[in-house]
Amino acid sequence: MKQRPFILDTLFRSINILPGIGPSSQKRIEKLIDGGKILDLLLHAPVDFIDRRFTPKIADAPNGQIATLQVRIDKHMPNTRKSLPYRVKAVDESGSMDLVFFHAKKPWIEKSLPLGETRIISGKVEYFHGKAQMVHPDSIGTIAEKADIQTVEPIYPLTQGVTNKVLRKSIMSAMKMAPDFPEWLDGAHMMRSKWPHWKEAIIKLHHPENEKDLEPLTPHRARLAYDELLANQITIALIRRNQVTISGRSFKTSSILRPKVLEALPFALTGAQERSLKEINEDMASNKRMLRLLQGDVGSGKTVVTCLAALNAIENGSQAAILAPTEILARQHAESMKDWLEAAGVRYVILTGRDKGKKRETLVNQIKNGAAQLIIGTHAIFQDDIEYHDLGLAIIDEQHRFGVHQRLSLSSKSKSTDILVMTATPIPRTLSLTNYGDLEVSKLDEKPPGRKPIETLLIPKEKIEDLIAGLKRKISEGNRVYWVCPLVEESELIDLEAAEDRYDILKSFFPDRIGLVHGRMKAEDKDAVMQKFAAGELDLLVATTVIEVGVNVPEATIMVIEHAERFGLSQLHQLRGRVGRGSAQSYCFMLYSGPLGETAKERLSTMRDTEDGFVIAEKDLELRGSGDILGTKQSGEAHFKIANLAVHGDLLATAHTDAKLLIEKDPELTSERGQNIKTLLYMFERDQAIKYLKSG
Ligand code: ADP
Ligand code: MG
Repeated sequence: MKQRPFILDTLFRSINILPGIGPSSQKRIEKLIDGGKILDLLLHAPVDFIDRRFTPKIADAPNGQIATLQVRIDKHMPNTRKSLPYRVKAVDESGSMDLVFFHAKKPWIEKSLPLGETRIISGKVEYFHGKAQMVHPDSIGTIAEKADIQTVEPIYPLTQGVTNKVLRKSIMSAMKMAPDFPEWLDGAHMMRSKWPHWKEAIIKLHHPENEKDLEPLTPHRARLAYDELLANQITIALIRRNQVTISGRSFKTSSILRPKVLEALPFALTGAQERSLKEINEDMASNKRMLRLLQGDVGSGKTVVTCLAALNAIENGSQAAILAPTEILARQHAESMKDWLEAAGVRYVILTGRDKGKKRETLVNQIKNGAAQLIIGTHAIFQDDIEYHDLGLAIIDEQHRFGVHQRLSLSSKSKSTDILVMTATPIPRTLSLTNYGDLEVSKLDEKPPGRKPIETLLIPKEKIEDLIAGLKRKISEGNRVYWVCPLVEESELIDLEAAEDRYDILKSFFPDRIGLVHGRMKAEDKDAVMQKFAAGELDLLVATTVIEVGVNVPEATIMVIEHAERFGLSQLHQLRGRVGRGSAQSYCFMLYSGPLGETAKERLSTMRDTEDGFVIAEKDLELRGSGDILGTKQSGEAHFKIANLAVHGDLLATAHTDAKLLIEKDPELTSERGQNIKTLLYMFERDQAIKYLKSG
């Protein structure tokens, strides 16, 4: 039976069993900690701490410092007017200080600070008119509670309606329930790294005593990060082992169709394209299943490589499919390949969500009976009711938008289908590891010849008139321009308005040959406008970010990005990649409105200084953290609580090796460590990996 080990039960219980968590705070906390389990709470790491261990006498308590004091309550001085504070005089043998409360309830103060009694108070000491006072002490307690107060208090990331006190209290009680696990990490490795066991690490995590304890590489945090990374890497190793041990098919490298396509190409392949193709051909020819990533920056020429790869399957009587993330992109691929495919006499179809009824039925039949040799489309081509005659190669474009699960469902269309993943966003090694494991990689690290570097300029919004005048000139010289409108967070509607407003304004300058595309348009209308722009019937295309990915209009040479400061780095890079695709000099104008924050400044200057997608991706990772980049927050993969790829890259590399060796030695996880590793996998809900083991 494959079942979660009992030892994990407590950690999987709902946080609502903890004292102090009611229905409404439960919801808020769940959102905050991104989960509803005790485990999620335990992995909610503090970001700071307040040291309350300093216990001076009143007279020795310095101004501005947090102190914990033992005092006797000497006098209550209720406020005479609402706007005045209620003061309580507290004394010790060295002197006196006022405890100051604004808008506090009298009964509460009287109860917490009874006259004549001794109390422990903790908070920031301040001097006012030469006299010590403490405004709203953070903690008030009896002598019996002294040890609880006089500690280092962890400070957690909070959200509205959840105080640090409540969170801390629930975490402290959660900690009492944390089990001691049999160790899943390698003993020697732990020793070398000075890592504690899991439970100790959790306890230490919530008891920071100094700045060092908050650092991501401090032993207890590193250990917890490693757990996550290791679970991730073992999962990938198991999935991968399962996929490659499925034997593939052997496709002879195309020798009839290929020369026809090469002849139809208006260019010669670059060295990088040749090399990548050779790697793909070898994979496809071997009877191992291909799992390869074709990684190439925007404009590096992936399309032709995938087209030639498809020929291998097709010439061997099999089918190839290209899965694109959007309708526009699917059509774009077909458009780019059209002449080549026709030259080779390859029968291809395009299938997207737009195809309904009779039309769809025809396409579905052609896929089923093999009349369609190449199938290009969106996820519609992998819907449950689509049957392939014989799918030999699946090419997935812009892979990072699809999750691991989608990839798996795809391979279920045909067990031995070769898979080629193409990605335009350069994926930093750390991310490619956490999401693909050691997928073989072919790199298009050389751009087609004759490309000039894109000139990138930062322009303050105030200079927009000058820019428009400049564009007028450029357009009269025959340039084509994209104008991308501001991204307004989470509101497509406002996006749209901004784009429409800009369109209206620009129309007064460029009356005839201007178009508008946005995400809310019907796909047909969108295509029609794009088509006109591609055909040169429009000079200027105003767009929301719908043009972000993959659009190929080599004649377009100018990209204007309005409110560039609002875009993320990889998005800017993708947008800029829409120009510079031909031999003419291209420009990217990034309009910004100040004042710019630090990260916005860094993003824009990175864009100005480099066109190297890898440099940009690394910088992006540094500025944003990992989850965002791959959009993995939505797809639910590689989403870590403690691990942060920007700082834990080395740990990831180690976890990768660790996982690989472990799975080689103990593929079914039956050894003692293997058994414990299973607990780790269950802990991070890597159930899909456990599925691949013969016995849970
Ligand atoms: P991407 O890698 O972004 O998908 P594309 O495949 O769309 O890039 O190629 C970008 C442009 O470069 C296209 O217009 C394509 O025809 C052209 N191209 C591709 N390979 C070469 C080459 N070897 N020489 C010249 N132009 C090329
Ligand atoms: Mg492309």
